Amino acid sequence: MPPDIHDVFGPAVAALDAQQLRRHRRVVSALDGAMVQADGQPRLAFAGNDYLGLSQHPALIEAARQGAARYGVGATASPLICGHSPSHEALEQELARFVGLPRALYFYAGYAANAGAIPALVERGDALISDALNHACLIDGARLSRADLTVYPHNDLAALERALIAARGARRRLVVADAVFSMDGDLAPLPEMLALCERHDAWLYVDDAHGFGVLGDGGRGSLSHWGVPTDAMSSRLIYMATLGKAAGVAGAFIAGAPAVIEWLVQKARTFFFATGAPPMIAEALRASLQVIEAEGWRRERLLQLHTRLVSGLAALPWPAPASQSAIQPLLLGDNGTALQVMAALDAQGIWVPAIRPPTVPDGTARLRISLSAAHTSDDVDQLCAALLAASARPPV
Ligand SMILES: *Cc1c(COP(=O)(O)O)cnc(C)c1O
Repeated sequence: MPPDIHDVFGPAVAALDAQQLRRHRRVVSALDGAMVQADGQPRLAFAGNDYLGLSQHPALIEAARQGAARYGVGATASPLICGHSPSHEALEQELARFVGLPRALYFYAGYAANAGAIPALVERGDALISDALNHACLIDGARLSRADLTVYPHNDLAALERALIAARGARRRLVVADAVFSMDGDLAPLPEMLALCERHDAWLYVDDAHGFGVLGDGGRGSLSHWGVPTDAMSSRLIYMATLGKAAGVAGAFIAGAPAVIEWLVQKARTFFFATGAPPMIAEALRASLQVIEAEGWRRERLLQLHTRLVSGLAALPWPAPASQSAIQPLLLGDNGTALQVMAALDAQGIWVPAIRPPTVPDGTARLRISLSAAHTSDDVDQLCAALLAASARPPV
């Protein structure tokens, strides 16, 4: 007889608890700016990815409201059946224009975009070359593809080149990387990576979940940040960005050469075996693109807040590796310390998530501080003061 389901999963969860790896959700609602209500308690949050503060923007809310009034609240089917609305069509054109690539395809989630696109691009007999710190959904996409996977040390261009040379015999070579690493906030050197892909006849798949809206001219993302001309690279580069972070809404898109995008429409299983996102979401995103471009002060505020945060963190005993984005890690090392410092901040009304393995490598548990244009300088000062207090009274 198979074991009782409670006897299997009850102890499994208890084991996570014992290793301080059990996760808990809080019930969260937004209050104002960076304040949230978490399990009934007001908290100043440095936890979300709402980098520009757009999730509560009146223009986006109004666009969603009007979209719902016009198209209803559900897409009713897969985009390949009848779930592709005029809103989705317009959004895809506007996204392509925004990033300067020929064509774009909207997915209901970034996870789905990566898990669906990568297996459509490479398969058994192909080589997939991936940065060691890539996001979990890129790794899941790699596994689903069954391509031969090589993981190179984080941002190590020499190792990337060795992997490309070793993959010379493969049918196709696809290099996959976050443009902004989600738990470190540092950037992938895209121009050098693209040059290596040119030299070794490979394609580059870039996940710009944390750069889109934040970096580049008008928030156009990492390609613009690095000044890589998009026309020159549209034949080598497949660009992916998510729209639930800086864009403030939900979903993701992949942009690139028309032939690639058309292939994804045919073959990305997460795209067409799933109901399309509600058209009202696409309407909110169309409004978001306009705000991202028009309200450049949001990016300026982010930069100012980051400078202030970095100088505050310099007084602490823990390393804060350089970051060029809205994400600033504070490395605490072991899981217990990370949880204790998180709890000390929580007691002072501040919420910064502790990130533990397997999200980050063993021994690199950290606080992941994420800034938003919704924060004020006072908010950042409060955080730094609370961290200083937590470090002066090391938890027993
Ligand atoms: C958040 C994230 C995703 C997943 O996007 P969702 O829209 O949240 O599913 C993909 N890649 C990276 C790097 C991310 O940080």
